[in-house]
Amino acid sequence: MRTLRLEDPPLWGDDVAKAQVELGVHTDGIFGPRTAAHVRSWQWRAGIRRRSVDEALSPLEQRWLLGEEPLPDSHRKRASKRKRPVEPVWALRTDPGDMSEFRIEDPAGAPSVDGHRYHAAKDWVAFAGSIVRSPATGRLVDVRRDSRRAGKIFGGTIKVQSDLDLRVWVLRHVDPLPGIEEGQRVIAGNPVALVARWNDGDAHAHVELWRALGGGYRFENMLDPLPVIQRARRAWKRPP
Ligand SMILES: [Zn+2]
Repeated sequence: MRTLRLEDPPLWGDDVAKAQVELGVHTDGIFGPRTAAHVRSWQWRAGIRRRSVDEALSPLEQRWLLGEEPLPDSHRKRASKRKRPVEPVWALRTDPGDMSEFRIEDPAGAPSVDGHRYHAAKDWVAFAGSIVRSPATGRLVDVRRDSRRAGKIFGGTIKVQSDLDLRVWVLRHVDPLPGIEEGQRVIAGNPVALVARWNDGDAHAHVELWRALGGGYRFENMLDPLPVIQRARRAWKRPP
C-alpha cells in the first residue's frame, strides 16, 4: 500500500478509486484537489490528531477509511467531540451580528428572476486594514485590485472556490495582499486581503456565497452567507 496524496502528475489507480467511494467523492481514480479536500474533512471527522490532518492518506488511514481495521478508541473519542466542520473559517474576527441583509432590495445588487435586485450578501463591518482570511480551502478564481476609496464601488475583490463543495466565497471592498494572485491555492484561514478604507462610510467586507462559479452574479445563484458564518462562529471559539 502506498500513501495517497496530491502529486504532480496526480496519483491514479484502484486504491484511489476505492478511497473515493468511501469519501463519497466522484470516482474517477485520480487523486485531485477535490479528493484531497474530502480526505482532510474525513481525517477531521475520524478524530485524526490535528497536526496529522494533512490531506494525505497513509496506508493505516486507508485501512481505517475502508473499514479493514477499526479506528483506535483515542480517535473515536476525539471524533465524538468534533461535530463542528473543519471549514468554513470566518473571514473576519469581528461579530457580523444576526441581521440578514440577503433579501434587502438594492439597486446595485444581484438581479433576480422576479425583476428585483437584492443585496444578496452580508456587509461584515471591521476596521479598515483588518486581516481578511480565506473562508475555505480551495483556489482563488478571481483576484482584483482597485484603488477607489469612495462611491459604491471601491476596493478590490477576491473569489475563492471551496474544494469541498465547489461553492464560491466572494469578498468585496478588500485589498488583496501582495503576492495573492488568481489561480493560487489557499488553505482555510490563510490571510488573503485587508479590509479596504472607505471614505463614504464604515469600512466593511461585502461577503457573498455563490452556489456555483458558473452561476455568476445572480440572486438565484446565491446563498445567505450569514447562517453559514454564524454556524462556524458558534462551532469555533477562534478560527481553526
Ligand atoms: Zn454590501
